[in-house]
Amino acid sequence: MSLTFEINSRIGKARGGRLITPHAAIETPVFMPVGTVASVKGVPQDTLEELGAQIILGNTYHLYLRPGVDTVRKLGGLHGFMSWRRAILTDSGGFQVFSLNELRKVSEEGVTFRSHLDGSSHFFSPESAMEAQIGLGADIIMAFDECTEYPADQARMRASMEMTARWAARCEKYFDANKDRVPWRPSSAGGIGEGAGEQQVPRVARNDKDENVTQSLFGIVQGGMDRALRKESAERTIEIGFPGYAIGGLSVGEPRELTREIVASTLEHLPRDKPRYLMGVGTPEEIVEYASLGVDMMDCVQPTRAARHGLLFTSEGKVSIKQARYAQDAGPLDANCGCRVCNRYSRAYLRHLYASNEVLAQVLNTIHNLSFYLDTMRRVRHSISLGEESRFLSSVWSRPKP
Ligand SMILES: [Zn+2]
Repeated sequence: MSLTFEINSRIGKARGGRLITPHAAIETPVFMPVGTVASVKGVPQDTLEELGAQIILGNTYHLYLRPGVDTVRKLGGLHGFMSWRRAILTDSGGFQVFSLNELRKVSEEGVTFRSHLDGSSHFFSPESAMEAQIGLGADIIMAFDECTEYPADQARMRASMEMTARWAARCEKYFDANKDRVPWRPSSAGGIGEGAGEQQVPRVARNDKDENVTQSLFGIVQGGMDRALRKESAERTIEIGFPGYAIGGLSVGEPRELTREIVASTLEHLPRDKPRYLMGVGTPEEIVEYASLGVDMMDCVQPTRAARHGLLFTSEGKVSIKQARYAQDAGPLDANCGCRVCNRYSRAYLRHLYASNEVLAQVLNTIHNLSFYLDTMRRVRHSISLGEESRFLSSVWSRPKP
């Protein structure tokens, strides 16, 4: 038992469920805040808990470069290192390496890339990406894939999708042979019940006497913007066999309509009883829409990144807090939001902090935006559990003013 997924309610294509990982049980659909370098920028872990974050993301590329996988492993894996008791998912590093366009070289064996920190040369293969993610010790880890650029011609999309499929098989093979070396597994040195790691180790893993509790590896569907290639990628990935499936390679510059179309068509080819993770999307409206299409897990840097630029998501649309019109606005940022920022501070104060370039501006803006995303997803889950299909989207968005 490393991962179980149960679907408890449905509305149309939307599913409400429970994903049980070694460190936490997660209500789905779920939004996962991004904590690139083992930190959700500006937000301490206890605040993330208070906001109701059930699972957060770490980026293998960044953590591999700094502080290094061995350091994290020695400190109990990411859970111990960053003192996070709930679930963690790491990406494979594929997307970050892909983003370093001019600094990378791809071959069948893997990807050579240069560090954005010091220019040093590194190599990621499906095997080394698995090795790094096993050392980091997230509950859910991702296959090493090639994210196809956009636009790309048919031949390029096919070649890239096929390489991702071959890499997925190599990932699965390596993971299967090495998964018992996860830092928090009972049988591993310095793991559960020993020293500093003990406090961080969670109920599910600790209570479960099953020696086989370990990480879960998800496969990733690629195939560019071609529906037939997406279908083939889904089939080939399912054939290898994973406990969950992600849709990757979207939000790479394509029009939003196309993203939606590819997501909807790809979902048709994924197993109905396994969790489905849509990587790297979207606005609050979009995450609601993707949940309605049957996506169970989503992550996005938008709430945290936009917050640092003074862009705040509210029940009445986007607010650019830097604008002079808020300079003397005594009202809360969002009268419908119950977060600690909206409960306490005025728009005028938030605008002043931003204009003064205060660190607190980033902290408070990020807390509100994350709260808004997490609350939105909470309402989506509630709406699914009520089973009121016709009111699905409207019940998420239209709330009476207090
Ligand atoms: Zn708020």
